[in-house]
Amino acid sequence: MIRESIVFGPIHSRRLGRSLGVNLLPSEGKFCNFDCIYCECGWNADGRGDTHLPTAADVRSALEDKLLQLMLEGKGIDTITFSGSGEPTLNPEFATIIDDTLFLRDTYFPQAKVSVLSNATRIHLPEVAAALRKVDNAILKIDAPTEALAARINRPAKGYDLARTVEAMKGFDGQFILQTMFLRSPDFDSASPEVLLPWMDMVRELRPRRVMVYTVDRPAPMKGLGIYSEAQMREMLRPLIEEGFDIQIKGPAAVQNPDASYKK
Ligand code: SF4
Repeated sequence: MIRESIVFGPIHSRRLGRSLGVNLLPSEGKFCNFDCIYCECGWNADGRGDTHLPTAADVRSALEDKLLQLMLEGKGIDTITFSGSGEPTLNPEFATIIDDTLFLRDTYFPQAKVSVLSNATRIHLPEVAAALRKVDNAILKIDAPTEALAARINRPAKGYDLARTVEAMKGFDGQFILQTMFLRSPDFDSASPEVLLPWMDMVRELRPRRVMVYTVDRPAPMKGLGIYSEAQMREMLRPLIEEGFDIQIKGPAAVQNPDASYKK
């Protein structure tokens, strides 16, 4: 979904509660170095070509206005969440924006968390990693345990290096949330042993403080994607749950026809 303003919501997030969204990307188009087959913003190629990114001053002003308004209205929020129409760490002022946001959060809603949903492609950059370590919830994506499968699911821009991303994640010492989309298409399946077992080994190696597993719940640009119910995902993840990992699973209570494809 393309976000046309810098600050949006609050909305109810299935993972984060009452969430005030911040979009550091263009207001009229998607801006991402991934092109995931399930992206709710659509394919990069179908974007409207808007590449104007808000400045740190723009974000600070819009966020302070909204936080002040919510405070005067007596409305609370659980989190300020950086998400929006693409990858937030691509904004060149990301580190400054995080510092400003933490200051504003402490000023207006000190109990609220600051969360960043990131595809983790830039966490090898020291300034990006340092900024993400300051927030309460650095929610970092790895959907696939191999470069080949990441190429099929995430369709990254040239230069993506899954091994480099995993190494950079180790630098967080487990102080991050790993997010992974579980899905299947005619040529791969997150539940197959060749995908699931190495992914679980990766989780054991990274030891994130929480793992968020979810499935497609909005129209996706690639047709024919299969989804899983919460119960199916819980069964797949049973070994990690029994080993004590904090696993949050979000999906439909049941998949009416497990063989049916997810379509627009
Ligand atoms: S990383 Fe997020 S915004 Fe980027 S293509 Fe994937 S789902 Fe879309």
